[in-house]
Amino acid sequence: MEKKVSTATQTSLSNDKGSASFPCPKCGAVEIVRTRGERANAVKYTCSKCGFTGPN
Ligand SMILES: [Zn+2]
Repeated sequence: MEKKVSTATQTSLSNDKGSASFPCPKCGAVEIVRTRGERANAVKYTCSKCGFTGPN
């Protein structure tokens, strides 16, 4: 099973039920992963491929 880590903070998501993952809204080539806490605090993420940053 794939182990996911937060795109923004590299925090393991293994026990984070409120986490979310989705393709980069801009390039779609990278999976963006966020923890529940990062969503709640609007922690910014950056796509490793195209450099897109966003809160959602
Ligand atoms: Zn991207």
